Amino acid sequence: MLLTADNFQNALIASALAGFGATTLGAVPAMFLRRLDERLNNNLLSFAAGVMLAATIFSLLLPGIARSKQGGASVASAVLQAIAALCLGGFILWAINELVPHDHFTKGHDGAIDVGRLRKIWLFVIAIAIHNFPEGLSVGVANGTGEFGTSLGATLGIGLQNVPEGLSVAVALQSQGYSRRYSIGVTALTGLVEIVGGVFGAGVLLISEAVLPWALAFAGGAMLFIVSDEIIPETHRTGFENGATFALFVGFSLMMFLDAVLA
Ligand SMILES: [Zn+2]
Repeated sequence: MLLTADNFQNALIASALAGFGATTLGAVPAMFLRRLDERLNNNLLSFAAGVMLAATIFSLLLPGIARSKQGGASVASAVLQAIAALCLGGFILWAINELVPHDHFTKGHDGAIDVGRLRKIWLFVIAIAIHNFPEGLSVGVANGTGEFGTSLGATLGIGLQNVPEGLSVAVALQSQGYSRRYSIGVTALTGLVEIVGGVFGAGVLLISEAVLPWALAFAGGAMLFIVSDEIIPETHRTGFENGATFALFVGFSLMMFLDAVLA
């Protein structure tokens, strides 16, 4: 139950596989693809959003609430605690999003600080890093529970949605004029951010086991922010909203199934 060195090691391996590995794997077809059909791109990213949404609920929030109750909290206080941590996760992501300058491929520039001479490529990388950190965090925290089903569910789910995300990023970088190899390399680099998130998430749990329910819901809030602030708007602005919505349902259902079967 307690976070052990084993769980920490698992978190490291899981975030490396689901974050770096899956993102890089997804980027590889960009070797042969110059561009992605806009409709397909929206569908792939919406699928990822659906997985993230269901992972937020089933792999992070519900296990967090269950853990609080196991720790002796009443139902009401367990849920209120999860809500507080969820909102805190969303708020911190919002603050990062506001403060740190970055560029989305379709949404354009975000962040209050003047960009100055930051090279454009880094603005994309920062945007993807902001997206990827919560995913790594989720994998790290889920693996920190030491529960096999929760860990495997979160790892598989996040890994699964990173494949289309990696492809989308690598192709988008190419469409910005970067070479194939450079685009794939930079995409792989953004996958490394998930390892940082994973180590951070599992590391926080080393402080005390009492942090666990908070960390689970916090990671969920961070993911929920990305889904609502970034992915849904970006996949609903080029005229293929219906397909995007259905793709989100597919991703959500798949993650819900994975969690139910594994946990
Ligand atoms: Zn994602």
